[in-house]
Amino acid sequence: MSIEKVDDGVVVSMEYKLTVDGEVLDSSDQAGPLQFLAGYGNIIPGLEKEMMGMKIGDSKELTVQPEDGYGEFDEEAFMDVPRSEFPADMKLEEGAELHITDEDGEHQAAYVLSFDDKTVKLDFNHPLAGAVLNFYVKVVALRKPTDEELDHGHVHEGGHHH
Ligand code: ZN
Repeated sequence: MSIEKVDDGVVVSMEYKLTVDGEVLDSSDQAGPLQFLAGYGNIIPGLEKEMMGMKIGDSKELTVQPEDGYGEFDEEAFMDVPRSEFPADMKLEEGAELHITDEDGEHQAAYVLSFDDKTVKLDFNHPLAGAVLNFYVKVVALRKPTDEELDHGHVHEGGHHH
């Protein structure tokens, strides 16, 4: 049975273009179509919601507000961490993305805002927090996930593999 439309548990291949404030930030022109498993939070909620029901060949332009995208910018989401808590040989760079595991074992992305010999200032806001996202999306293929993909909750080709 062929899959007719984007729905929970369907692997979607899409061409896309992300524009913020008139600037193209990302597109499938460079990286090729993106694959994701619909209904598993693989992509931002606002985009996933809007793509439900789309068929192969369907395209649309849509706007995603921050609350359905990368979140509102949080003025409180900054933290000063002693430089000594980072490995001595770790090269720090402004804007670099770090993966932090907190006391509860939760993984979080943080960005280096600034640093000196004593302190590293981290920003836990996503770089696109607060941004209104304009997407062009086109569904180019739909398929059933493999059992393993369904088990992991993400695709194993053209996506991130864990
Ligand atoms: Zn996997």
